[in-house]
Amino acid sequence: QPKIGVLALQGDVREHVAALAGSGADARPVRRPAELDAVDGLVIPGGESTTISKLADIFEMREPIDKRIFGGMPVYGSCAGMIMLAGEVLDGRPDQRGFAGIEMTVRRNAFGRQVDSFEAPVAITGVEGEPFHAVFIRAPWVERVGEGVEVLGRVTDGPAADRIVAVRQGNLVATSFHPELTGDLRLHRWFVELVRAA
Ligand code: GLN
Repeated sequence: QPKIGVLALQGDVREHVAALAGSGADARPVRRPAELDAVDGLVIPGGESTTISKLADIFEMREPIDKRIFGGMPVYGSCAGMIMLAGEVLDGRPDQRGFAGIEMTVRRNAFGRQVDSFEAPVAITGVEGEPFHAVFIRAPWVERVGEGVEVLGRVTDGPAADRIVAVRQGNLVATSFHPELTGDLRLHRWFVELVRAA
């Protein structure tokens, strides 16, 4: 069983641990460098990226996580986790900083003030079956991707049609939405296989 940590500084840690455990991983919360050393992959949960950024410094997790990312450890970020994996953040707080991340620009809280939360079907490249029932909560979207970034999913209709909401660059994967909230384990299973193969 691959050992996969969920960064437990803030956010919906418990839901990701449950989804990973249900997907064949030995899943556990991680908030100390020594706990990070013991895992083969990491999930950065949804929550509030400004808070996660601040706590990453306080808990001295920033450098250890960057090192593991450069070392090829698979990392999956959902929502706030996507923002933490973005090379550039628009509408961020000036002091928030991400990890050594994906070559992309994301916009925080991008879907507009009127619609803080919504649900939409999103098909993900590489994941078989029905489109995901994607849940977006004050979610970012991806405005620009670099050459090395594979777009895995887009919103299909409505005012935000065509917006990029799932990407991968090598060992790093990010989604704007929260598959950990819907009981659909396909994305976590896919990530567990990515960790197993790494
Ligand atoms: N808006 C939050 C942020 O900026 C993300 C929301 C979420 O993770 N559901 O970090």
